[in-house]
Amino acid sequence: MEAQRDRSAWLKGPSATCRVPAHETERPWRLILLGAPGVGKGTQAQLLADRLGACHLSTGDVFRAAKCAEEKELSPAMAAALDYMRRGELVPDPTVLAMVKERVGCLRCRGGFLLDGFPRTVAQAEALRDLLTRESLELDGVLDYELPIDEIVSRLSGRRTCGSCKAVFHLTTMPPKVAGVCDHCGGALLQREDDRPESVRVRMEAYARSTAPLTEFYRQAGKLIPISAEGSPEEIFQRTLTALGAKGA
Ligand code: AMP
Repeated sequence: MEAQRDRSAWLKGPSATCRVPAHETERPWRLILLGAPGVGKGTQAQLLADRLGACHLSTGDVFRAAKCAEEKELSPAMAAALDYMRRGELVPDPTVLAMVKERVGCLRCRGGFLLDGFPRTVAQAEALRDLLTRESLELDGVLDYELPIDEIVSRLSGRRTCGSCKAVFHLTTMPPKVAGVCDHCGGALLQREDDRPESVRVRMEAYARSTAPLTEFYRQAGKLIPISAEGSPEEIFQRTLTALGAKGA
């Protein structure tokens, strides 16, 4: 189970060892998850991690964990990345690649991996391909979660987050018991600035520009597995398992 695994080696880098590593599995799955913000990629990554026994390796999580670390604990690559993040920019390719290379042990893990948030550009995808080739690791596939933009806007614009404990609700699919109030701590529920419909459309355009070329890269490599992200998380998950089954799950 994901909850019982620890991802120290991924979150903290090579100086850390996972206390509870992913189980060594007979069939380690090595997958990349692609999809625009709001398609439910994070939820699918959790469900897949539990089912396949592979760790959910999110580059965004590494940067968020590093933000909480002390300055002296940070590697030079990570300190540079945080400077870009603080300015609200995408971290440049060489910095992201240095960070992933420091964590190559997680790619070698006998439990497999589910990469989320990386690669984000074709240059990162080419570098990952070369890294996996050097390590004699085969990528099983790239799950590409697809959803019409109007559905993404409606999903994200209904999302509400507790200002105190950060729990996430949704006006239609997961409403709080009392409107505007967190079920867990009683805090006020707020809409994230970047979840407003006009901001969502801007984020989608940015995603299409920077990340969509990746789908073409992986289609040409014969690795792309398109999955419809319509319906409930369980329906999407079943669709994912069926698609992986077709590849020998
Ligand atoms: P995420 O949680 O994947 O949305 O990532 C949060 C932030 O981390 C992004 O807005 C970027 O600043 C940075 N980041 C994460 N992964 C990458 C990547 N592969 N390339 C560049 N920046 C990244």
